[in-house]
Amino acid sequence: MWKSWSSIKLWKRIAAGLVLGIIVGILLSGAPNVVETWIRPFGTLFLNFIKMLIVPLVFLSLVVGVTSLKDPARMGRIGIKTIAWYLVTTAVAVVIGLVFGLVFQPGAGVEKVAAAATKAAALPSVVDTFLNLIPANPVGALASGNILQIIVFAIVVGIAINFVGQKAEPLERVIAAGAEVMYKMTAGVMELAPLGVFALMAWVAAKYGLSILLPLAKIIFCVYVACILHAVITYGFILKMHGLSPMQFFRGIVDAQMVAFTTTSSAGTLPVTMRCTQDNLGVSVGVSSFVLPLGATINMDGTAIYEAIAALFVAQVFGVTLGGGDYLMIVIVATLASIGAAGVPGAGLIMLTMVLTTIGLPLEGLAIVAGIDRVLDMARTTINVTGDAFVSCLVAKSERELNQTVYDAAPVA
Ligand code: ASP
Repeated sequence: MWKSWSSIKLWKRIAAGLVLGIIVGILLSGAPNVVETWIRPFGTLFLNFIKMLIVPLVFLSLVVGVTSLKDPARMGRIGIKTIAWYLVTTAVAVVIGLVFGLVFQPGAGVEKVAAAATKAAALPSVVDTFLNLIPANPVGALASGNILQIIVFAIVVGIAINFVGQKAEPLERVIAAGAEVMYKMTAGVMELAPLGVFALMAWVAAKYGLSILLPLAKIIFCVYVACILHAVITYGFILKMHGLSPMQFFRGIVDAQMVAFTTTSSAGTLPVTMRCTQDNLGVSVGVSSFVLPLGATINMDGTAIYEAIAALFVAQVFGVTLGGGDYLMIVIVATLASIGAAGVPGAGLIMLTMVLTTIGLPLEGLAIVAGIDRVLDMARTTINVTGDAFVSCLVAKSERELNQTVYDAAPVA
């Protein structure tokens, strides 16, 4: 039986877990404790397994990436291209969010709720952010899982290996072997994905019955449709312009999308995203191991869409009229909030406090969306991860680091 189950394509098994999870969750919605005690732990088990891979995978594969790219100028070029694409797509995402919030008025008719005042999150200063990129203690960075610091350390180690040359070859080989082991482990952990996705979906479906979702159906609709349109139109159009088939792209990353949808963590999905882009879309290790961890930390198009829609939602609920300057402010702050948000569940909601305070909107608005944040987080995390994979393909293509044959054969059915 195991043999026939494992011969089914992984994405189909994960999709089956997802659908079954929703059904079981709805059936058990009267007994949330049963789901919490007996089903959710399988989701946590899967999550812990993929989290286990993140730090060693990012570090080892990025060192391998840098040593394989060799030329530091090339690294710089890849860095600039990546950040430019990240900023452009995030700005487009915020604008799409604003349009949806204005056209569909998700806050109209929603009741205000009184809530305890929440403290606003703040972005750290620009100088601190830059200084914090350098890990004073690299072991500490690895131990605490600080992805940006790990990226910097891995790049420095990789460049140093290149400069040392022959004498550093044993180390280079050990690191390359370590990366291979991590890839193997990722593939193994993915076998748990159908079970993990099933458990997480059952938990979400049991927790959020229709009675909680219906009053906020409009904001859920806006966030989901805006996210889908951003992926299909913005990414699809740009991919086409670069001679890459959008269909093949979406086929190649469907595993990562499903894991992102259920775990609501782009950092947690990272091992799967790396695997999909390298194995299914032909992106080189050098590009994917640099672009994706960076993206999981700073590039969040779904979160940007959400921040814009949620800000307008709160303004509409509280009857606050916004002017042209406010909209411009939303574009800027929502972009910054999405960059500042960590790739963990619920981070976008915390950053929303910053957006609301900057625009002068009541923080109580947060309480209304907080109840259904998980459901919105599922959509935005999926787009966050899709956006990272999308940029990795563009950068790889422009650097001749994309294997077109693999991309064109992205497996699905
Ligand atoms: N959960 C999202 C992510 O990991 C961040 C957010 O809450 O918007 O990408």
